[in-house]
Amino acid sequence: MSKDIRPELGLRQIVNVSGTMTTLGASIAVPQAIEAMHRSLPQFFEMSALHRYASEVIADLTGGEAGFVTASCASGITIRVAAAMTGTDLLAIERLPDAGTLKNEVLMLSGHMVSFGAPVEQMVRLAGARVIPVGQATSSSAYQLAGSITDRTAAALFVVSHHVVDYAQVPLKTFAEICHARGVPVIVDAASEYDLRLFLAQGADLVVYSGHKFLGGPTSGVVAGSKQLIRACYLQNRGIGRGMKVGKETIIGVSAALTAWKTRDHAGIRARERAALDTWVAALAGRPGVTATIVPDPTNNPLDRLKVTIDPDEARITAWNLASRLAAGDRPVIVRDHEIEHGHFFLDPCNLHPQEEHLVAERLLEELGKAALSNDVISTPIEEVWLEREKAILNWPD
Ligand SMILES: *Cc1c(COP(=O)(O)O)cnc(C)c1O
Repeated sequence: MSKDIRPELGLRQIVNVSGTMTTLGASIAVPQAIEAMHRSLPQFFEMSALHRYASEVIADLTGGEAGFVTASCASGITIRVAAAMTGTDLLAIERLPDAGTLKNEVLMLSGHMVSFGAPVEQMVRLAGARVIPVGQATSSSAYQLAGSITDRTAAALFVVSHHVVDYAQVPLKTFAEICHARGVPVIVDAASEYDLRLFLAQGADLVVYSGHKFLGGPTSGVVAGSKQLIRACYLQNRGIGRGMKVGKETIIGVSAALTAWKTRDHAGIRARERAALDTWVAALAGRPGVTATIVPDPTNNPLDRLKVTIDPDEARITAWNLASRLAAGDRPVIVRDHEIEHGHFFLDPCNLHPQEEHLVAERLLEELGKAALSNDVISTPIEEVWLEREKAILNWPD
């Protein structure tokens, strides 16, 4: 690895145990992607040929007929909705986001209307479509989906994520069968899922993955599926896709990451991740008020995490105060905290550089040790923490 650029820029050298977070720079790019991007930048390419090359790489890995590289998974959602609306009608492509007489309704299960940092449904609306929610947040049924299809339905979007409601939802296979019976294309958001074939196999017409998450590519989206729809995605470059275009380095970088995925030492990576988890379990054993449990990924990715539950009375600190202390100072460790008000956070080992697991263990023991000496429980009301965060966002760049 080349020399760490962060100190030169005056930026903190954070250690990421929160997972593949866009807000932290997503993932560690694989060396093959870095080298390919480096070699691509000084050259010229016929971009349509380069896109065709990437299409073949994507098709090979996903089992789809064709593929298309987008700027991100988020823009991949917008572009696929646009593709479903316009097909290959060039004039309609130029007119978006004015839908005119095009079909413009996109069905989504209410329990899938989540935020990944921005609302998923906004990515649909960007194409000029309207989202039609199906069912309620806590349940959706086949009859609700079937009954929501009209002659205005352009597509149906299915989201796979740890964020979605994970019970009482129409499963993808049923979702696709119902939509296909009425000629409605199914597009899947599988941004963070490792399985590159499963969702197409279960009936998706198009699937999109983030190139910069588990794949370790540059910031990008990887769309795969039906050739006809992929062609319509590509043509959005002449319309709303232009503002979301990808450059040569992105197409080449993510293609290299995909090719490297085929030969990646998945078992070796799993073993290294397991070793990090074991290190943390051993470090935390016997700490008052700390329970550490290895838990599987909620969407069945081959990835385990450590769930660290904090009993504030025993540990003398709340989970969220501990997380913010870990993130402070000159050895910041950023934990996975999306459920922190429940009194736990996760340690995700998938984005560690060698040896960083030991720093994480040291920092945990350091902050737990300090808290143990406190007379009062270190406890900021969670609602204050949240309001402070909101305030901080509004003050950027200060
Ligand atoms: C990360 C994520 C996105 C956004 O991915 P980008 O490639 O960063 O745009 C969309 N949907 C889900 C479910 C995600 O996890």
